[in-house]
Order: sequence, then structure tokens, then C-alpha cells
Amino acid sequence: MDSKQYIDLEDRYGAHNYHPLDVVISKARGIWVWDVENRKYLDFLSSYSAVNQGHCHPRLIKTVRSQVQRLTLTSRAFRNDQWPLLASELCEMTGYDMVLPMNSGAEAVETAVKTARKWAYRIKKVPHDEAEIIVCANNFHGRTVTIISFSTECLYREDFGPFTPGFVIIPYGDLASLEAAINPRTAALLIEPIQAEAGILLPPAGFLKEAAGLCRRNNVLFIADEIQTGLGRTGRFFDCEYEGVRPDLVVVGKSLGGGFYPVSAVLGGKETLGLFNPGEHGSTFGGNPLACAVAREALRIIRDENMVENAAEQGAWFLEQLKKIRSRHIKEVRGRGLLIGVELKPEAGGARRFCVALKEAGLLCKETHDNVIRFAPPLTIRRKDLNWALKRIKSVFRTLA
Ligand SMILES: *Cc1c(COP(=O)(O)O)cnc(C)c1O
Repeated sequence: MDSKQYIDLEDRYGAHNYHPLDVVISKARGIWVWDVENRKYLDFLSSYSAVNQGHCHPRLIKTVRSQVQRLTLTSRAFRNDQWPLLASELCEMTGYDMVLPMNSGAEAVETAVKTARKWAYRIKKVPHDEAEIIVCANNFHGRTVTIISFSTECLYREDFGPFTPGFVIIPYGDLASLEAAINPRTAALLIEPIQAEAGILLPPAGFLKEAAGLCRRNNVLFIADEIQTGLGRTGRFFDCEYEGVRPDLVVVGKSLGGGFYPVSAVLGGKETLGLFNPGEHGSTFGGNPLACAVAREALRIIRDENMVENAAEQGAWFLEQLKKIRSRHIKEVRGRGLLIGVELKPEAGGARRFCVALKEAGLLCKETHDNVIRFAPPLTIRRKDLNWALKRIKSVFRTLA
């Protein structure tokens, strides 16, 4: 079958809840992917940062091979010999007391919301069913009904109500609004340290630190959604480290599964995650031995291959190079580590046509919203490959000028 046949089949039988670029990938290794016609592309999206380790990492192949032959699922009705190791290793790496394992990012965000509410009722003594969680405009935390209940993106919400109450929306990066929104019923602030899906939006310098201080002084939990920014993507293990912020709860996912398996988790202290009792929350697949074996190896790879340092170093260089591109279409280039957005001016005709042209040139990027091109290659990328990409990016900006 050729690409066109696959595309026709997908469009005929698959629900149209995505608008993919027309490239049908059939194999991948590291930073490279190949389509069914054997054309080669550089992956500059990394599955929305779910393959920070690069595609089909040989160590993960080995781990999966050996784990699937031994044990894949026990459910949490019984214990297994992988979950305790993942839990202890994650805590050791991050300094948190406890981990609650889930599968998708959205499930882990839901878990953090439940944790914050439980903490509010049990510890802060907020009257039952009155807890509020503060979130930010333009947030992206996933697609469940509760999570889209506090989205400000019409596209994510239309036709999906009624919605879950208990959320208060403030402008992103606005300290005065945060202060004004906090009241005795406030359980938590849930925030992305960089709003990736919104178009790689960074809060003003110092905001995260000030916001975390404000939360602490008001007995409000600070919850960081590091599903996309975490595990090295922005040049620190957690992006919050840039401002010395230590969230009460951190949500991780995506690259925790190394692109092999959905694995997510909430990290936190005894005073929050310690509040859960048997039966109050769960997941059939959460903490399964295959997921845990994959996550353990995925974390070790990040450490052994110095991916955090590489993201910081290569990202800083690449950002600088992108900023040097002179094009009447570019409004702003921004980002941290290897999470970079190029915002185009409204009159540039949309980011999509640039992504299509980049694809033709051998570089797979995806637009986020209408006018931002996201650059987020695997964290293993080397200078020479970034140079290869840069040449193509420059050429596309010249051609579409
Ligand atoms: C991807 C993402 C999610 C949702 O993760 P899923 O695995 O798609 O449910 C939540 N928050 C952020 C910041 C994300 O980037």
C-alpha cells in the first residue's frame, strides 16, 4: 500500500479528531523516521515530547522484550516486582516522598485534581464540595470532561458540556490576578511552567517563584503540570527548577514511557498523596509491570545519555540561531531548552503551510494553534543535525517569503 491508500483508509474509517500532516510513518530510529515510500525525515516534534529519548531506543526495545516475556499485568489487586522499584527510583531522583501511577497524562492531571480536593477537605478544612482550584487561561491539561471544563479554548469545549465546577481561571503569568483569586476555599494552583500547547508561552521571569511563594503563604498547593516540559525537555529535569520552585505536586507523563507505552504519574509529599486510602482511587493498568519496567529504563536513559544537559546546550544554541533568521513572516522566536516556538505574523498565512513545506524538505514539525510552529526534536539531537534542520528551515522561510 502507498501513502495515499493509507490516508484514504484513515479518513474513511477513523474519526476525524486530528488533522495530521500527510506523512505515513512506518519506521523510526532515534531522531529519524521513514514513511511507507521510504522517504526519510527528521522528527522535530517527538510525538509532543513523548519520545524525548528518540524513537525505538535500543535499550527500551531490550527492556520491553524481556519484560513482556516475564510479566505484563497483575492489576493492583496483587503486587508486582517492578512498581516498587519505579516508585522508589522516581522518588530518589526527584526528592519526593510518594508516587501515584496512572497511564495517560489526563488521568494523572485528574489524579492531581482529586488529590488537591482531598487535601483541601481533610487538611485545610475547606467545607465539603466547595474547594476551588485556580488554573490559567490558555491552559492545556488534557481532554477529559473535567479538564476541558477549565479550558479557555472553545474548540476543546463546544458541545461537550455540562462541565465540572470548582475551577477559577486567571490570566497566565499575572500575579495580581492570582492573589485576588485566592480565598479560604482555594485548594491549589494548577499550572504549566511553560504553556506548550498554547504556543510555547513563557510566563514573565520570576512569576513561577512568586506564584509558588504566594501559594505557600496562603496554604494553597502549587501543582505543576510537567507532562510536556518535564524530564529534560526544557534543559532541566523539571522546568520549575529554573526558578528554584519545588511544587507540592508534579504531574509527569509523555516521555516517562519513552514512546513505548503510556505511563504517567503524580509525585508529591506524604501530606498530599499520603491521604489516599485503599479503594478511593485507582487504575487497572496504573503501575503495571510492563509500564514500570519501561519507565525505569526511560528515566535511566535520560540520565545516562545526559539528555537534560544536551537539551539545555543544544536548545540555547538553536534558539539563538533561529532568532537570527530574518523573515517578514516571523513575529517572535521563544522557548527554553528544546521546546521552541516560532510565532508567525497573522498575515503570514498560517503555520500549517510552513509545516507542509518543512515536511517536503524532510523536517516534521506541527503547527500549534494557527500561527506557531513548534520545534521539539528528541533530546538526543546533535549540533550537526540541528544545522541540517536549520538549513531547511531557512530555505523554507526564503521560499515562502
Ligand atoms: C500532553 C499533555 C497532557 C495530556 O496528556 P495525555 O497523555 O494526552 O492525556 C496534559 N498536560 C500537558 C501539559 C500536556 O502537554
